[in-house]
Amino acid sequence: MDVSRSFPDGPADRVFEGRLVGGSTRAGQPEPEEPVPFARTEISAEAREAALRVLDSGWVTTGPETALFEREFAAYVGAAYAVGVSSCTAALELALRALRLPAGSRVLVPTLTFCGTAHAVLHAGLLPVLVDVDPRTGMPSALTTARAVVRCGKPAAMVVVHLAGAPAPLDELAAAAGLPLELVVEDAAHALDTYVGDRPVGALTRAACFSFYATKNLPIGEGGMVTTDDPELAERVHRARLHGMSSDAWRRYQPGGSWRYTVDEAGLKANMTDLQAAIGRMQLRHLPEWQRRREALATLYTARLRHVPGLRLPLAPAEGRHAWHLYAVRVLEERFGRGRDELVERLAAQHIGTSVHFVPLHRMPYFRRTALCPAGGFPGADALFPGLLSLPMHPALTERQVDTVCRALARSARPAEEAPR
Ligand SMILES: *Cc1c(COP(=O)(O)O)cnc(C)c1O
Repeated sequence: MDVSRSFPDGPADRVFEGRLVGGSTRAGQPEPEEPVPFARTEISAEAREAALRVLDSGWVTTGPETALFEREFAAYVGAAYAVGVSSCTAALELALRALRLPAGSRVLVPTLTFCGTAHAVLHAGLLPVLVDVDPRTGMPSALTTARAVVRCGKPAAMVVVHLAGAPAPLDELAAAAGLPLELVVEDAAHALDTYVGDRPVGALTRAACFSFYATKNLPIGEGGMVTTDDPELAERVHRARLHGMSSDAWRRYQPGGSWRYTVDEAGLKANMTDLQAAIGRMQLRHLPEWQRRREALATLYTARLRHVPGLRLPLAPAEGRHAWHLYAVRVLEERFGRGRDELVERLAAQHIGTSVHFVPLHRMPYFRRTALCPAGGFPGADALFPGLLSLPMHPALTERQVDTVCRALARSARPAEEAPR
């Protein structure tokens, strides 16, 4: 799909254009080249057809398409079970509830993540303990994890986030927290196709939680999935996703099905619909090709930006596989010659969309009130945050657009002769 032709009139672009068309070109700045949206929701033609087929079928809520998507998704990530839900945030809450921990139990959460990760812990009746990150990876290290344990006590569980799609060192982190992998839940919102060592994220811990939000690697619009090798956990999530009911609507309305059901535990309204599942099944067939594209784009960015002073680039992991959900650079203000915020504005004025992943949770009033923040603060995240910048990354991005972004970045950097001696 040619992004330039559909921008900015396509409805998919409008979602992400805020920053792109918000900035005006100021006098003295280069003329805008081709607009480059930060993200773009790719919906394949087959997915569109599948959605129409479900709309015409007379059954749009959870049913046979959901069951098929669950089976196909589980196979893709190498897990025995997958349960389709309404979002990754719901997936995390359901997986954490299924651990059956005492109310108020402490759960380690990195401070550099999406707010949904911590909301899920709180909604599950648990207490998030925010963990600082290593500024080189943006993720907790064994050291920052061990420090949080020393300062806040032994946790009952831990959420690991594979930030940007880079593999987090699961075994090291679990060991540093003193937890078996059965008490680790992965926020895999960025990690569809991430490999830790030679194994895909999906059944490496008690449960992995994926997102099908509009910007994620397998976009449906909204949606999520819990994957696990534990049949009991899968059953708990399956029941709790729909009010905790013993029988869902599809089973009740089948010929010979009974209207009877009961509720024996707390439940959410967080089921996946067949409409989402039908789209997801067809999207999944495109995923390998989209992932190859993301990897090629990451390689291209790295080649083009290697010599720009003051930019620290994301590394391909020595072991495992990066899913390249994001291509997030770090702007080192001193060497680059400008700060991240000024750079964001300059790029926006040239119609280049960017984003920041993430504002650390310990900087947000709600989590300062509700989460435990270890004494000693978050020096790693605080050092990293001011320079974080995510560049456009999506499978429809063209090489020309990558060139546009990289030229704009190079032009924004301090010329070599101005560098401090
Ligand atoms: C997107 C995202 C989520 C939430 O996903 P939803 O499907 O929107 O609930 C959770 N964690 C991280 C790291 C994310 O980027």
